Amino acid sequence: MKIVMLGAPGAGKGTQAKMIADKYQIPHISTGDIFRANISNGTELGKKAKTYMDQGLLVPDELVVDLVVDRVQQDDCKKGYILDGFPRTIPQAEALTEALKKLGEKVDFAINVEVPDENIVKRMSGRRACVSCGSTYHIVYNPTKVEGVCDKCGNELILREDDKPETVKKRLDVYHEQTQPLIEYYTNEGVLVEVDGTKDMKDVFSAIVDILGA
Ligand SMILES: [Zn+2]
Repeated sequence: MKIVMLGAPGAGKGTQAKMIADKYQIPHISTGDIFRANISNGTELGKKAKTYMDQGLLVPDELVVDLVVDRVQQDDCKKGYILDGFPRTIPQAEALTEALKKLGEKVDFAINVEVPDENIVKRMSGRRACVSCGSTYHIVYNPTKVEGVCDKCGNELILREDDKPETVKKRLDVYHEQTQPLIEYYTNEGVLVEVDGTKDMKDVFSAIVDILGA
């Protein structure tokens, strides 16, 4: 079972990806993890990626695809895998399709966790972080015992820059521009499935299991 996870930042796709990986016993693969593994193992691809990262440059699509294709050919991927955060763009998606075709493989499901922007902005703006120990909370889903005070160390909680509505909206705009076309792409490939990400985490997961099969 080869799965691509799609969804806006803050839609909860990472959580769902982990739950899928656990249930179906397939690796949850993120590009960040692949980069780190290749760099720490000093592979040729890792060395190449590092030269870009050291200069503060984006790793080119071609190299990212090479790294992902290399990863999905490892032994633990025989039963399948779940890609989280890749592909991000149409050129990456096309390159992945081509590379998998050469291996006689294809993506089986592209799961889009659909959450309206307003909900994401609302969710993120409820997050609070401790200025001292870094603990994170949510005013609705994970509140502290005393409002605005860290349970662990008693210091002040703040709304981080990253979680402010303006910042979240900007990030969502970038997402829609760049990643939304992937939804069309995977629809045309006949593998797109959508789940309502506004529901409870467990309900979202059972909707996914209904699609993938128990
Ligand atoms: Zn604290």
